[in-house]
Amino acid sequence: MAAKSPPRQTPQTGLPSSCAPSQSVAVLDNSAGFGSSARLKSSSGSSEDSQFIVEARFYRKLPNGRVRCTLCPRQCNLREGVRGDCGVRENRRGSLYTLVHSRVCAAHVDPVEKKPLFHYMPGSVAFSIATAGCNVHCRFCQNWELSQARPEDVPSQYLPPEKIVALARQSNCPTIAFTYTEPIVASEFVIETADVAHQNGIHTIAISNGYIHKNALPSVYGRMDAVKIDLKAFSDAYYYKVVIGQLKPVLETLVALVSLGKWTEIVYLLVPTLNDSDKELTALARWIKANLGHDIPLHFSQFFPDYRLAYLPPTPVASLERARQIALGEGIHFVYIGNVPRHPAENTYCPHCSRLLVQRSGYEIRQMLIADNACPYCHGAIPGVWSD
Ligand code: SF4
Repeated sequence: MAAKSPPRQTPQTGLPSSCAPSQSVAVLDNSAGFGSSARLKSSSGSSEDSQFIVEARFYRKLPNGRVRCTLCPRQCNLREGVRGDCGVRENRRGSLYTLVHSRVCAAHVDPVEKKPLFHYMPGSVAFSIATAGCNVHCRFCQNWELSQARPEDVPSQYLPPEKIVALARQSNCPTIAFTYTEPIVASEFVIETADVAHQNGIHTIAISNGYIHKNALPSVYGRMDAVKIDLKAFSDAYYYKVVIGQLKPVLETLVALVSLGKWTEIVYLLVPTLNDSDKELTALARWIKANLGHDIPLHFSQFFPDYRLAYLPPTPVASLERARQIALGEGIHFVYIGNVPRHPAENTYCPHCSRLLVQRSGYEIRQMLIADNACPYCHGAIPGVWSD
């Protein structure tokens, strides 16, 4: 079996081993450069850490002390004392509470290329944070120790929005990224942090599965400067069996993001034999072009065996190249290959004259020629957020 390569989107799981149970203030040590971890001291792990528990924004009270969470398409109907499917929202005495406000379980300084966002402030870094929990249950999840955990089972630190913003400034990050797990399920924390960030001139991005209810979507993604959506497949069956969710709400999210004018990029993790047929990829590309336009960047990422799909091999590079050719052939302008460092399809080429415009090597920008959102050779438009 091929050796497992380090996946590009994965944080060091949880917090560094230096963490000790404490409520003390986090200290960011960025001396190691990109990918270094905020050295955080963990919370006590008690589910009764009241500092993390805040009434939810998106829910309705029902008869008999029940509540309905209206944040994501699951619309969990919860009796008193029960948590939603995400494991981080709970009915307490007839009201719904989030258990992960300011409960940060991972913090790193990452290049935006690692998210990946290729048309958003290239070469910049993002102060990247996560809280425990997710509202889907992908069988290939590389961050399952955080995403599928209850918050009290994960070492975490109390980091309120003001502290997050201060740490971002301290580490010279122009952007805060909500990433690694699913930011939707921590919406109250994400919203408040984004508001404080913008008041202080810091941008915000979300790395998300797009599985949000349309009524909550503007409040959450509306506060982001850019969004990367993991579109896991283009089939209901895959979403049902492998993601444990639904495709339709994610497609609706993508359409809504483009309508809102949010800079959006799509990642499609190509899993051998499960979502990599020519038929599915052709349908995917045609849907994107018809509903989102041909300029939305599409990243085909290499799968590495993990969690409950550890029995599958890594995606062959030839499969990624085939997927890219299909999408290009259907008229998508910017199609990238991810998790294969130094592959030529990491670069941005002008869709009008085919010249090389942004040369990447892993997370590093080697050459960046785009100016005023245009190709310097043919002056064709190159959409994106290319500078602060
Ligand atoms: S966010 Fe959590 S509690 Fe709310 S509907 Fe979705 S899975 Fe259920």
